[in-house]
Amino acid sequence: MRVRLGSADAGSPLSDAVLQRLEAAVGPDHVLVEGDAVDDAGHDWWPLTLVWDRQGDRPARPAAVVRPGSTEEVAAVLTAASAERTPVTAFGGRSGVCGGSLPVRGGISLDLTRLDEIVDIDSENLMCRTQAGVFGPDYEAALADAGLTGGHFPQSIDLSTVGGWIACRGAGQYSNRYGKIEDIVRGLEVVLADGRVLRTNPVPAAATGPDLMRPFVGSEGTLGIITEATMQVWPRPRATEKRAWSLGRFSDGLDVLRRTLRAGAHPACLRLYDGPESARSFSLPDDRNALVLLAEGEPDEVAWQVEVVHDLVGDTFDARTEDAALVDRWLEHRNDVSALHEVVARGIVVDTIEVSAPWSRLPGIYDAVQKDVLAVDKALVCTAHSSHAYPSGGCLYFTFAGMPDPDPEAVDAFYDACWDKAMAAVTGAGGAISHHHGIGLVRARFMQRELGETGMGVLSAMKAALDPHGILNPDKLGLGSILWQGRH
Ligand SMILES: Cc1cc2nc3c(=O)[nH]c(=O)nc-3n(C[C@H](O)[C@H](O)[C@H](O)COP(=O)(O)OP(=O)(O)OC[C@H]3O[C@@H](n4cnc5c(N)ncnc54)[C@H](O)[C@@H]3O)c2cc1C
Repeated sequence: MRVRLGSADAGSPLSDAVLQRLEAAVGPDHVLVEGDAVDDAGHDWWPLTLVWDRQGDRPARPAAVVRPGSTEEVAAVLTAASAERTPVTAFGGRSGVCGGSLPVRGGISLDLTRLDEIVDIDSENLMCRTQAGVFGPDYEAALADAGLTGGHFPQSIDLSTVGGWIACRGAGQYSNRYGKIEDIVRGLEVVLADGRVLRTNPVPAAATGPDLMRPFVGSEGTLGIITEATMQVWPRPRATEKRAWSLGRFSDGLDVLRRTLRAGAHPACLRLYDGPESARSFSLPDDRNALVLLAEGEPDEVAWQVEVVHDLVGDTFDARTEDAALVDRWLEHRNDVSALHEVVARGIVVDTIEVSAPWSRLPGIYDAVQKDVLAVDKALVCTAHSSHAYPSGGCLYFTFAGMPDPDPEAVDAFYDACWDKAMAAVTGAGGAISHHHGIGLVRARFMQRELGETGMGVLSAMKAALDPHGILNPDKLGLGSILWQGRH
């Protein structure tokens, strides 16, 4: 059984001296060296590792799970870890799909879910100060009680934390209206590798030199530990409208999205599904491309947004109006994540790849990724939808699946080939290799190509300045020697 992905040190025990320092920092009850918590910390929702699980392979194992209950305790843990050169891999909900929270060098898995307090809801200034370990439903429920919404609804909202959203630079399903998480976060409290605490001033805008908060948004636990965030919030919308159409060509649907955003309309959800996904999710014929709209806001604003999309669809060749119940169907099933485990249990290797690009390049990327991934031996499907739109471009979200021979090498080879093909097609067309899932391990080997040599050098320099001993989430973001390519 292969239990380690990284170095030979992964999973080796911490010295008594380190354990004593950790126990002094958070209390003995919150330093766990065995049991389910330790086993579970070696997993996230990286789909490939679900396959490994079935094959008896553990992706990684920390030496200890440490559960701090305050910023001061996080600082004390990092001070100790820094002094002892012990790796520290943060986690919130462990819903990441890229292996980001796997402790590939062992050491400490830092469980941030005891940081679960919503500190302040400021209705006047529309800001909410919250600890990082608050889960999505608790965050949204507290805001709803105050007549507000956080506007961030990832499909994984039940599984994920505010800190994880920020660390992965995620996107919610209503991002057309509320923005991605980097548009929503206003200020951060971050514990640095040496235990110092950085607090940025949560103001709506400033010109005080470079924004020191930004490097930590999307840093996936490699540059610092996010302990608190101040987030923009909104009054709850007073009106909601739903509509659905289908189009003859996916590229025509992309053009409707483009022209909607260009017209200045930002319906919370405007999602376009290709033929196979429209058949799978909405029982439409597989040559129809479903376009579902959910607009929310003030009644007049909502009516105008619906009118904009309605008119643009009306101008489109071979467009049909579909039952708005399609939107209800999407709403009912949108956060159901049970299917993945069932599919994996049938021996199917499956994953999703979300990318972004300017509008002019999206049709080419859609065609190229499908063609190249389907050319991989044993590939069965490669489908896509567009879930997030901006005036200058959008996101394509691919799902691929195949049935390679069940032996581990064949599974890994199939999986890697699909990723290689997709990433090459995206970077070749000038797209970004991730729109919201992040890099983690699965995309680490593509980072140099994505950022370029100088870009990678800048990221490495930031890492060296902020984490000189390299203790924070080693080997993620392409910042290390493990550039995932099969199990080693
Ligand atoms: C079914 C499913 C659907 C999903 N849908 C979406 C979606 O719609 N939109 C989307 O954006 N994502 C989605 N995801 C991916 C995932 O849920 C997000 O990336 C989420 O933001 C991760 O949050 P988490 O709390 O689970 O973080 P974790 O998985 O615990 O950690 C993710 C990364 O962030 C780091 N990290 C976590 N907390 C902190 C912290 N406080 N400080 C520093 N680093 C930290 C970890 O080290 C790791 O690198 C989905 C995942 C699943 C399984």
